[in-house]
Amino acid sequence: MNPFTQLVRFDPSPGDPWRANSTPIYQTATFAQESATEFGTYDYTRSGNPTRAVLETQLAQLESGERAFAFASGMAALSTLTRLVPAGGEILAGDDLYGGTYRLLEEVAPRLGIKTKYVDVTDLAAVERTIAKNTRLLLIETPTNPLQRIADIRALSKIAHKHGALLAVDNSLLSPWLQKPLELGADVVVHSATKHLCGHGDVMAGALVVREAELAEQLGFLQNAEGNALAPFDCWLLLRGMKTLGVRLDRAQKNAARIAEFLAGHPRVTRVRYAGLDSHPGRQLHYSQARGAGSLLSFETGDALVSKRIVEALKLFTISVSFGSVTSQVSLPCWMSHKSIPASVRRAHALPDDLVRISVGIECSGDLAADLAVALDALER
Ligand code: PLP
Repeated sequence: MNPFTQLVRFDPSPGDPWRANSTPIYQTATFAQESATEFGTYDYTRSGNPTRAVLETQLAQLESGERAFAFASGMAALSTLTRLVPAGGEILAGDDLYGGTYRLLEEVAPRLGIKTKYVDVTDLAAVERTIAKNTRLLLIETPTNPLQRIADIRALSKIAHKHGALLAVDNSLLSPWLQKPLELGADVVVHSATKHLCGHGDVMAGALVVREAELAEQLGFLQNAEGNALAPFDCWLLLRGMKTLGVRLDRAQKNAARIAEFLAGHPRVTRVRYAGLDSHPGRQLHYSQARGAGSLLSFETGDALVSKRIVEALKLFTISVSFGSVTSQVSLPCWMSHKSIPASVRRAHALPDDLVRISVGIECSGDLAADLAVALDALER
């Protein structure tokens, strides 16, 4: 089925006697049982809910997975992911990760006896050297956020499997519309569904999607045992947002390509990081595993104060953390999304203080470029 069709044509209300075309919101904590000794399909919303079930089925289909699990946020999904690693086990993670993920790995996972090492996941030899006997999970983002480095999902899955570890790919940046890590050998896909999947900046949600039934069994157990599943109304909002994922992201990506070209040609900009640019060193690898470069890009000016002035002069880009919404957003990662990474670690991982991150929305690209031009040209005055 064509992906555009897949996004909107699915059974919205399985088993519903009224055959609602929009998934009903089962806003209930409990379900009445026929018998006192045996449960029906649903008994308690923490364990399962029909609205969530429709969402999870659709998420699994979109990511080519066996099963999906919806969580209260991307961090809740990542937290559950770490539970797959036993005490004494190790996580090997990319060294350019969302700041909150870094905080989880550094400040929460150790309380469970889990240690994390970091490596440049674009360097396969370094990954081979760093992966250890007790590494149970290799966790990556590609493109990395916000540096837009490209990691080879196929090769990393082979390395992880050779060493008895799982490969988890945080696919928030591209979504299944542009990249399907499970088809490339990954075992788990992670989402901050707050981003493109929702697409309107009005829901906090997360997801884990897996290929194998045994892993699904474990995650289903954890989701119920820890009680961090997504609430029915938020499931409904997310389902609604996902229907337009393709039209939104295609348009935002087109806008982003135009903005990246504009910035790359501007004398005040010292570097643009966007996998869609011909000059991007990982471009070829990226397009061997993804259909597009998405709508997030970053640029540098050579001076953190100059970057701050540009960001604050913009009118059509809202200064805001997060990305993947219909409206354009701008941020200084070192002060915002990645602030929870200590400055010394950011420096060691080559995350520049003057980096500006832009999440391009679905506005008119001409208006967005004009807004950037005004902000950049104002520096001359
Ligand atoms: N993964 C990535 C790549 C993110 O950017 C974020 C949040 O910005 C998360 C995970 C965490 O998701 P959430 O904010 O939905 O908890």
